[in-house]
Amino acid sequence: NVRVRFAPSPTGPLHMGGVRTALFNYLFAKKYNGTFVLRIEDTDQTRYVANAEQYIIDSLEWCNIPFDEGPGKNEKFGPYRQSERKELYKKYADQLLETGWAYYAFDTAEELDEHRKEHEANSKNFIYNWHNREKGKLVNSLVLSKEEVEAKINAGEKFVVRFKSPQDEILTMQDEIRGEIKIDTNILDDKILFKSDGMPTYHLANIVDDHLMQISHVIRGEEWLPSMALHVLLYRAFGWDAPKFAHLPLILKPVGKGKLSKRDGDKLGFPVFPLEYTNEQTGDVSRGYKEDGYFADAFVNMLALLGWNPGTEQEIFSLEELVKTFDLARVSKSGAKFSPDKTKWFNQQYLQEKSNKELVQLFLPILQVKGFDKDENFVEKVVSLIKERATFVNDFWDLSNFFFENPTEYDAKAAKKQWKEATPALMTELSEVISTIEDFSSQNVETIVKEWITAKEVGFGKVMQPLRLSLVGALKGPHLFDIIEMIGKEATIQRLKNAVN
Ligand code: GLU
Repeated sequence: NVRVRFAPSPTGPLHMGGVRTALFNYLFAKKYNGTFVLRIEDTDQTRYVANAEQYIIDSLEWCNIPFDEGPGKNEKFGPYRQSERKELYKKYADQLLETGWAYYAFDTAEELDEHRKEHEANSKNFIYNWHNREKGKLVNSLVLSKEEVEAKINAGEKFVVRFKSPQDEILTMQDEIRGEIKIDTNILDDKILFKSDGMPTYHLANIVDDHLMQISHVIRGEEWLPSMALHVLLYRAFGWDAPKFAHLPLILKPVGKGKLSKRDGDKLGFPVFPLEYTNEQTGDVSRGYKEDGYFADAFVNMLALLGWNPGTEQEIFSLEELVKTFDLARVSKSGAKFSPDKTKWFNQQYLQEKSNKELVQLFLPILQVKGFDKDENFVEKVVSLIKERATFVNDFWDLSNFFFENPTEYDAKAAKKQWKEATPALMTELSEVISTIEDFSSQNVETIVKEWITAKEVGFGKVMQPLRLSLVGALKGPHLFDIIEMIGKEATIQRLKNAVN
């Protein structure tokens, strides 16, 4: 019974690395007919950002990878916000205190700083674990009597509950992606599990919830790998079966070294967020894939291949195909380089596969803003003629404006080269020829114009290039006679007249 979870902390917008984690969880869940849970890890109130949770939910929805269980949905293991589960964690902290897997510590931050400095002065590392916990000046329930501990707590002294990590053990763990991992417990810090303000830390809440929510596989980013030993030990301490772990490789910057950060997008000019995000404090807007004109399915396809590969050359996958093909065993251990160009390529591929009707619906609002209220059949024809040159629907206008309006300026370089002394006379004469054509189909106009050119013995380029320049304003666009058919006789003649003047 596969149950996986995506457990973001609502500390800001969801980075595309987070979306990738959600996606891999989703794919894994769907592949095994399992359940994909969304849990909001909001125990750290100091880093909490209002509306971050909604942003996360909106993002998953846009990507078409909705959760099965989570806040407000199918809440059988709920609540799914850790802040609403607060009362529950104390019991588990108490359990570890009773069984001796945890202890109270009363050291203040300043005192700990002191100890650290002292150790460093003797070129030693200060680790709060068996090396130190019962020695020196540390104040905890391992060195104090039961009465002393109670007195401190009753007096309202601040405390933390720390995990008592084992001494001299080589912990052997299994990661579904990385294989066997060995950790010497002597390097582990006795991490804080619970604080006197009644709040658990990430580690305790995460393990308790994964257990209570019957999570079978923990699939998360590589940045959590260093926490795995503590988590495995916590399961042991509670006497619970641990879920399987899979740590996904980092997503790396397109250029240079290191992890793709939230700031890279703004710096280098590509989105790192699925949706646009406005920082309420600074008013800064970070771009999103959606608003940049990416298709959600193209974005998701690109993300799927960041750290996973199907073992074949295939790159284009529908979500259903991804569900079928996805396999944790084919997730790589090493970081995956993000490529903005490849991301665009995916969008272009998806755009070609969209039906013209669907594209028309996306293009119409853009045309409306420009003030053109053309009928859908006309727009559909335009789309069919230009789409192969487009990467985004947002490119459509630049590729097709001449279908809707007469050129107002002409590409100067092209004009210099193509517009000769003899051109105006030629264009005027051609315009007269065109005005006599009855059947204004692309093919018929082409036949007649070409016959005329042949008879004139002027050379095709001398007519066709200035003609294109006159009608389009530049030497671009699809087959010229298709354009002529679309804009019609009147506009063709008008544009030739405009160009000659
Ligand atoms: N709350 C953690 C995060 O923000 C969850 C880590 C995990 O999946 O265990 O990524």
